[in-house]
Amino acid sequence: MNYDYDLISIGSGSAGRRVAVALFRAGWKVAIVEKDVEKHFGGTCICSGCIPTKALIEKSHLTDDFKEIVEHKSRIVDRIRGGTLKHVTERVKMPVISGAAYFVDEHTIEVAGKKYTADKIVIATGSRSFIPPIKGLNEVNYITSKEMLEMDTVPRDLLVIGGGRIGLEFAQLYHSQGANVTVFEGMPQILPGEDTEMANMIEEYLIKKGIKIFKNKFVDEIKEENNSFSVILDDGDNRGEYTGDVLLVATGRIPNTIDLKLENAGIELDRAAVKVNDFMQSSKENIYAIGDVIGNPMFTNWASYQSGLLLNNLKKDKKDWQKLKLPTVPRICFVQPEFAATGMTEEQAREKYGDDVVIHKFYNKWLGKSMIVNDWDGMLKAVGLKGSDEILGVHLWGERTGSLIQMFVLAMENNLGWTHLANMVYGHPVLAEGIYSLASGMKGKTNA
Ligand SMILES: Cc1cc2nc3c(=O)[nH]c(=O)nc-3n(C[C@H](O)[C@H](O)[C@H](O)COP(=O)(O)OP(=O)(O)OC[C@H]3O[C@@H](n4cnc5c(N)ncnc54)[C@H](O)[C@@H]3O)c2cc1C
Repeated sequence: MNYDYDLISIGSGSAGRRVAVALFRAGWKVAIVEKDVEKHFGGTCICSGCIPTKALIEKSHLTDDFKEIVEHKSRIVDRIRGGTLKHVTERVKMPVISGAAYFVDEHTIEVAGKKYTADKIVIATGSRSFIPPIKGLNEVNYITSKEMLEMDTVPRDLLVIGGGRIGLEFAQLYHSQGANVTVFEGMPQILPGEDTEMANMIEEYLIKKGIKIFKNKFVDEIKEENNSFSVILDDGDNRGEYTGDVLLVATGRIPNTIDLKLENAGIELDRAAVKVNDFMQSSKENIYAIGDVIGNPMFTNWASYQSGLLLNNLKKDKKDWQKLKLPTVPRICFVQPEFAATGMTEEQAREKYGDDVVIHKFYNKWLGKSMIVNDWDGMLKAVGLKGSDEILGVHLWGERTGSLIQMFVLAMENNLGWTHLANMVYGHPVLAEGIYSLASGMKGKTNA
């Protein structure tokens, strides 16, 4: 069969772009389809996710001028998005097809009324905000992270539904700029899925700073009247009606599959995600899916890792393909100070190993450099096993732990234990010395 392309990637984000560009450079005939080239080339991370949120957060530590903060964010986003588009179209000279794609059959997609065929197709359409079925929510003008990033004023009273990473980052950012902020989390802890002790410490800290947090109760109803929103909790300790001028819904993300007409190509779903095998092949073997569109965890680093693996596989014979397996992924929440974790939580470890689990904690206020950078509240927590050097999990809350966690990722990926981390020479005074203290303490406690 003669196709227009060897490979088409649907989506220009962290997942789709890498595999497409690299194969194009390797001599394949490749095109990328992006539904919003002007505003969203480069995907969520660059345009409406990691980069803009972190640009706002970092700048908010330096100034209270919200206009300046927003300008900083926009400058960075424009630079990276523009640079990425220029790189792909002008330097790499790869075809970019503008518009939303959907499947016609397993080798054909349609974009803006025109059909394109390809031997292989990669679905890398990412995800969008999940909107929970709360009574009244669909009748009000709520916003999601996407619109929140377009705001150029600080709300007076911000209501945030969802106490996960995205909800908390916005909550703290806008609180630091003068908004009254209330967070509603339905689960028993904020940062659901993360170590409970760490989540509770961070919650206590945010409450102490003035953010209201209600947890363990899903919101019952939402109303809007005269530009004022009401969040209603019908029962429980925090029963009541809470009002605000902006309502942010940050209750997770859902794969972007509904507009793709996947049924035309016979592609199966696993709930909303594209169902894939160990080689990221969908139920049609010439159609692959990578990134947020295959479901949790949804991180840029993981999307880009999958893209790299798919790329290497596609360059080889199938017999030499590597299977996708979840590596040690750092999970970071950019509250201030940062929270970074990898591996098992204490709860997960206890469920698996019971009383053999060993916990060691190090408080940042014991470290000179932490005092120097004014980090008095943070804590580092290690999860290990009696008689074993294995690092099961690490949970770091403190200044720049988003970077420090990488040392544990390296150790865990290479089967290095507490002893290796305890036996290195560290710079001084640096925040990484907290890792030395944590690992030394753990080495002593595990008797490995
Ligand atoms: C507010 C926020 C903050 C975040 N912060 C972080 C963070 O700090 N660290 C981190 O690791 N992750 C973070 N993430 C998650 C991260 O952004 C995603 O995991 C990552 O961008 C997924 O990459 P992807 O390539 O799978 O999808 P995307 O980057 O979303 O790319 C998909 C692209 O496909 C396009 N598209 C969709 N449908 C079609 C179609 N039918 N036809 C053509 N094009 C289509 C979309 O426009 C989009 O550009 C954050 C997300 C959000 C929302």
